[in-house]
Amino acid sequence: MYYNDKTVSFFDGKFVKSKEIAISPFAQTLHYGLGVFEGLKAYQTQHGVRIFKPTEHFTRMKKTAEALHLPFDYDIAELEEIAYELLERNKFKNAYIRPILIAADNMGLLTGGDTKLFMATWKWPRYLGDRLLNTCISSYRRIHAQSLPVVGKITGCYVPNIMASTDAKQRGFDEAIMLDENGYVAQAPGSNIFIEKEGVLITPPLGNIMPGITRATVIEIAKSLKIEVFERVITIEELLEADAAIFTGTATEIVGIASVEGTALKLLFDKSQCARIAEAYNELVHSVHEPAYTII
Ligand code: PMP
Repeated sequence: MYYNDKTVSFFDGKFVKSKEIAISPFAQTLHYGLGVFEGLKAYQTQHGVRIFKPTEHFTRMKKTAEALHLPFDYDIAELEEIAYELLERNKFKNAYIRPILIAADNMGLLTGGDTKLFMATWKWPRYLGDRLLNTCISSYRRIHAQSLPVVGKITGCYVPNIMASTDAKQRGFDEAIMLDENGYVAQAPGSNIFIEKEGVLITPPLGNIMPGITRATVIEIAKSLKIEVFERVITIEELLEADAAIFTGTATEIVGIASVEGTALKLLFDKSQCARIAEAYNELVHSVHEPAYTII
């Protein structure tokens, strides 16, 4: 699914056939989760293929590598060029792009050793699909804000998230909502969350959530549509009584939430401000240079 005989990836400074890449079983990333990755998406726009906000994604990756003291010898412009060349070599127009910084062989527990950059691209439909989701509140909590720097995508951080999503599926739900260490609504395992109440949007503040690039984009879109956004803590009760809610993320894009723990959200999604935001986001990513939402 992610590659075939012809697929090209970027590994350790070169474009190579994906099937020929070998990762050492002694890689520190594999054993201890010390690694940094990103997720970007390219779209066919009226101006050609455009990656959405690549500078923001690669900057977050670099900052996360720095926070983990992992050497990261690429500059942002170079990474953008590699990503575009990867799309071109694979003849992709609409695709997901996944760079990961892999920590080299080291069975010890100190960071700072050599790293290798791997970057791949594949066609990926919206991560959580297109229909409204039935969600549950997970007993697996978001990793404590003081356990790791809250900057970007740290490989090892995803284990609780995988547990939360898997548990949600096993219980018959589409996706989990994770709480933070204080029991407030934090986010989904791979997406941020916004709730809507009486026409305004509320999203958990930065601090112990993923500083999502889609989240920041949604806040910009809302402002331009004159929809108020509050960044503040959200209680479980508020979530259950929301008029509407969305998950946001590069791979998820924007998807509506139908219910939480079997309680249906109050508004018909199509009538919500969340639906307007979803539509504007879709137009924006497909018309990167002329954002649709500024001319609405
Ligand atoms: N939270 C987590 C844990 C994520 O992995 C992601 C990205 N998939 C997001 C939120 C959304 O971030 P972004 O909008 O930058 O893709």
